[in-house]
Amino acid sequence: MTALRIDAMNPWLAKAVVLVASIVMVLIRAPHGKRSRTLRVAKSRKGPLEIALLAFAWIAFFVPILWIVTPWLGFADFPLYPVPLVIGTVVLAFGLWLFHRSHVDLGANWSITLEIRESHHLVTEGVYRHVRHPMYLALLLYGLGQAALIPNWVAGPLYAVAMVLVFAFRLNPEEELMTEHFKGEYEAYAARTKRLIPGIW
Ligand code: SAH
Repeated sequence: MTALRIDAMNPWLAKAVVLVASIVMVLIRAPHGKRSRTLRVAKSRKGPLEIALLAFAWIAFFVPILWIVTPWLGFADFPLYPVPLVIGTVVLAFGLWLFHRSHVDLGANWSITLEIRESHHLVTEGVYRHVRHPMYLALLLYGLGQAALIPNWVAGPLYAVAMVLVFAFRLNPEEELMTEHFKGEYEAYAARTKRLIPGIW
């Protein structure tokens, strides 16, 4: 009897994909970060919890890079197989595309934290037509892609865990801030869209 055997692979390919994805992520974000620093903030909800969540998200972004460039996380490595490598790469690529699209659609209304800018307007078109939080969905997909792709118990799931925590503590305050500012306009938008997954939730 010939058993179907799929050998574990050297993770260099996963490392290359994660490194390229991290660079693409920074390149997508950079021009928006630069512009947002020049725009005045009208209302802010950046409390200690928000600062802690942002710090955790940054750490979670850099740990996979540490896994690539240092041997420090080697104790948590496990074998890499082709199927998770391929699925992870596809999910990661889709996450990056959606991250780019949501940045383009949100434009100058984007902030890294919970803020309303002067001359903020409500975006309901483009990817925002399908869900209210496409950028958070993009970041979650990025995290899930990494979880499939990185054969390491620490570096693999960390970003997805960070994103789930960020959403758990941020979705409600963000929607409250938007409702307070845009009132009926946001309520009508919320009534016809889902939060993260089109048609489901
Ligand atoms: N939650 C959204 C946006 C993330 S950026 C997403 O996942 O795509 C966070 C900032 O975007 C918040 O401070 C909020 O002021 C702003 N924002 C969120 N939804 C918006 C919308 N539909 N139109 C304009 N600004 C929005």
